[in-house]
Amino acid sequence: MITKFIKRILRRDPMVKHTQANNTGAPKRIPKKSHRIDPHLLSKNAVKVTHTLQQAGYEAFIVGGAVRDLALGISPKDFDVATNATPDQVQRLFRKARLIGRRFQIVHVTFFGKGHPEIIEVSTFRALLDNAGDHVAESGRILRDNVWGSQGEDAARRDFTINAMYYDPSSETVLDYHGGMADMQKKTLRMIGDPAKRYREDPVRMLRAVRFAAKTGFELDAATRAPIAKLGTLLNDVPSARLFDEILKLLMSGYSWKAIQGLKDAGLHHGLLPLLDHILDKGEDSKGANNFVKLALANTDDRIQSGKSVSAGFLFATLLWPDLLKNWKANSAKGMANIPALHDAMDDTIATQSSGMTIQRRFESDMREIWSMQPRFERRVGRYPFRLIESPRFRAGYDFMLLRCATGELNSAIGQWWTDFIAADPTGQEELMASVKNESGNNTSPAKRRRRRKPKSAAPPESAAS
Ligand code: ATP
Ligand code: MG
Repeated sequence: MITKFIKRILRRDPMVKHTQANNTGAPKRIPKKSHRIDPHLLSKNAVKVTHTLQQAGYEAFIVGGAVRDLALGISPKDFDVATNATPDQVQRLFRKARLIGRRFQIVHVTFFGKGHPEIIEVSTFRALLDNAGDHVAESGRILRDNVWGSQGEDAARRDFTINAMYYDPSSETVLDYHGGMADMQKKTLRMIGDPAKRYREDPVRMLRAVRFAAKTGFELDAATRAPIAKLGTLLNDVPSARLFDEILKLLMSGYSWKAIQGLKDAGLHHGLLPLLDHILDKGEDSKGANNFVKLALANTDDRIQSGKSVSAGFLFATLLWPDLLKNWKANSAKGMANIPALHDAMDDTIATQSSGMTIQRRFESDMREIWSMQPRFERRVGRYPFRLIESPRFRAGYDFMLLRCATGELNSAIGQWWTDFIAADPTGQEELMASVKNESGNNTSPAKRRRRRKPKSAAPPESAAS
């Protein structure tokens, strides 16, 4: 009997060690007076989800980035909930609940309110995986991890200490497993566990480190930063779609320029966007491109920080524009006509980009539309302006053109002309077109063009020719 008992203890021993090694012990309970989370910043729907789950006898907490942002006094853009209920059990409790994903099965609970519908992502506590078995690739990258676990294990799987806090809206208590709150006070971004091992499991965590550092203004803890220089190349093994999602998050963080500088400092920009290689490596050589991108990103950051929407297609169109312009000029120098030269340059630019990180198709078509509209802004007579204004993506093309004016790439009088044209009544529009006809060296009217035998411009527009 006693030997049996001892054997059982011995068998359990490795399990105990495993738990301690990953620090899945009791969390620190942080009461309201210490964390100072403002309940007004909570999503009512997220609170509804935790209440419903708790009423049904489960544990449920707001978790991850939302708790981090709440503790920083920022209104979170989305809310995640973690629970010990399984996805099926969660789904049964809500009317509008959908099971999502195969690898990570989670539940999306949707609420329809006045504005956009709000989706609360509910995930079940996940288990820690050891390095054995078929879950981990040779490089250490986690391949499959749909195994449920305890809250402590769930916390240890998360990336940074500040992303591993659980907030219970009912008791207004934060459960902190890894000293996240102390790190918040020290303004430190610290990886949970052994950083090198965690980056090997999921190299995207390196990009996340840079993104969160830019967003919070926190410093990367030395041990968290150190392995990145050596492990950066592991990003090459990450599927392109995942990389794209993370880069998009980085660009849409509201701190994109800072984050891009962070990528450079960490040596992580290579191969993500050719443009980043150009700009960040060549520095002074590409000052013009640098200015354009800087302005575009500052513009994006402003919009995001003031709660406006940003189109990813537009953003990538700006990021790749300096590259496109270079290709366009090169094609024109070879004697290609202006528009074919542009289209050929678009193909080249996108192909080069795809060799690093493929941009999703739906964004690619937006980019093409925005780009191909650009020469059309210089045709300001006859029916051309009216046709252009009716394009479904006119607004994006126009904003893009204004950006080109702001960096001096395009004559700002053209930007002003379009701003006036949009606001003018039909008589005003006629007058504006007449003013173009009177300018020398401007585009000709369709009637004049028909009379001419050869098309006028074999050269790119002012922008590309300059
Ligand atoms: P954001 O403000 O961008 O939404 P976030 O921290 O909420 O930041 P998400 O990608 O929404 O980021 O992820 C939610 C939470 O899931 C994170 O806070 C973290 O705890 C965990 N997490 C996400 N991605 C990873 C990862 N690659 N490795 C470990 N944990 C992760
Ligand atoms: Mg989030």
